Amino acid sequence: MQITEIYKSLQGESTYAGLPCVFVRLTGCNLRCTWCDSEYTFHGGRKMTTEEAHDEVLRLSPNRGLVEITGGEPMLQEREVVPLMQRLLDDGYKVLLETSGERLLETVPEQVVKIVDVKCPDSGECGTFCLKNLETLNAHDEIKFVLSSRADYDFAREFTEHHRLEQRVNAVLFSPAFRKDASGARDSSHCLLNPQELADWMIADNVPARLGLQLHKFIWDPAVKGV
Ligand code: SF4
Repeated sequence: MQITEIYKSLQGESTYAGLPCVFVRLTGCNLRCTWCDSEYTFHGGRKMTTEEAHDEVLRLSPNRGLVEITGGEPMLQEREVVPLMQRLLDDGYKVLLETSGERLLETVPEQVVKIVDVKCPDSGECGTFCLKNLETLNAHDEIKFVLSSRADYDFAREFTEHHRLEQRVNAVLFSPAFRKDASGARDSSHCLLNPQELADWMIADNVPARLGLQLHKFIWDPAVKGV
């Protein structure tokens, strides 16, 4: 499979935020979100066998723990990434899969925690989420909406209510988008949507979702990759 990087850091998002985690970042994406901070994954990378990727995870985290399979869009390399996830599960790792849900997720092993990033209007990729995937969600999965405007918030709230997401998954996450060229200050000034404004809306509407901030962008310079 084509891999951009494998590294160890802290998980920055989801209900697993703050935990040490190995990231396996696959190369290539079929979407082009306006605020994408992973454009460096669109091309390049290096070819690795499932065995080599597995061994690198083992080297970085020999006593097991958390592994996130991400990208890019990892499910574009389904044929290789599904066996890798199964191998890591068999080894005793907790495996997270970050995906847009544009591809069918029915081959993802049941024990994998899917973190599905449903695209909102201002991403430029709204409507790419495959609704059939709602049926493959498990109670331990999570759905994330990255928001950069009131229109995005309204979309996410309506989608959550319409599909009763809080009854399907472990967590629904509303997360302000970060400016993709952000660098320097490690604070919310780089958010495209003010977290305080988002918090006010969520409280007023009593939405069954939790506000998520990208923890790693408050710890390290937002321009730094591989953290
Ligand atoms: S799906 Fe993810 S990697 Fe692909 S363009 Fe959107 S944010 Fe970037």
